[in-house]
Amino acid sequence: MVERRHLLDVDDLDREGIERILDMARSFAEVQRRPIKKVPSLRGKTVANLFYEPSTRTRLSFELAAKRLSADVLNFTASASSVQKGESLKDTALTLEAMGVDAVVVRHPVAGTPWLLRKWINATILNAGDGMHAHPTQALLDLFTMRERMGNLEGKTIAFVGDILHSRVARSGMKACRFMGMEVLAVAPPTLLPPVAMEGVEFTCDFDAALPRCDVIYMLRMQKERQQEGRVPSIEEYVRFYQIDAGRMGRARPGAMVMHPGPMNRGVEISSEVADAPYAVMTAQVASGVAVRMAALFTLLGGAEGGDGIA
Ligand code: ASP
Repeated sequence: MVERRHLLDVDDLDREGIERILDMARSFAEVQRRPIKKVPSLRGKTVANLFYEPSTRTRLSFELAAKRLSADVLNFTASASSVQKGESLKDTALTLEAMGVDAVVVRHPVAGTPWLLRKWINATILNAGDGMHAHPTQALLDLFTMRERMGNLEGKTIAFVGDILHSRVARSGMKACRFMGMEVLAVAPPTLLPPVAMEGVEFTCDFDAALPRCDVIYMLRMQKERQQEGRVPSIEEYVRFYQIDAGRMGRARPGAMVMHPGPMNRGVEISSEVADAPYAVMTAQVASGVAVRMAALFTLLGGAEGGDGIA
């Protein structure tokens, strides 16, 4: 039996493994600029997208990535399936396996779900976001976007700002940026910072003081769906201290860029003026997502022979 490889979090990669995926993504990004955007690399393979939580960018870009590699794609949305009749995750996964699926891309509200799937079925598993825990392909596409604009990331400073406590994007992103030798700041009100410090990450509540240090200002969505209890006194108060707006951008380093994983809450963590400014690179992040997910699928499904740092 072929030993399957998985992408559950960025820990499954070392720096060399990350760089190999980013380099490969560069070639796939070039393919995306051709009139015919499809390559035959995964012809005969089947990829299932198993989504138990809403998603726009991640689901569409995984689908497009698999299709542009010529794989067959199954899109499973929990809200339109037998999950509504009470079918368990395990039985759903076993059904996909019985249909000969080679890879399962999974998004689920419960942290750790991709690790369970890895135990239950023999397919390659890619984590497309599990609860508040991890979102490795988001971290990879963010690194790709930064590297394309700034070159070597070593020594550059990034601040993740906002609802860090509930953010899988921040958790995977901070680790990935550390792997690449970046300085990482976590900026949030004390109630939205994780209770345990992360190795190598500097925590601060003072956004205005942190701004002049940052090459990249990474804004996080306020995760209303994961907040049972009020963690900020009011949105107005939050906006006053933690929204990135044109005034605050005046304090940033010249050339600093603003990122956001989407979906944005315009008027909460980011003002519309900043969201639409040339230094905000959200559409570049989306474009990178397709190329990076092509590289991840291609690497995991047998595209890259030899060690590539993927567990
Ligand atoms: N789209 C990202 C995620 O699924 C970020 C967010 O929802 O705030 O985690």
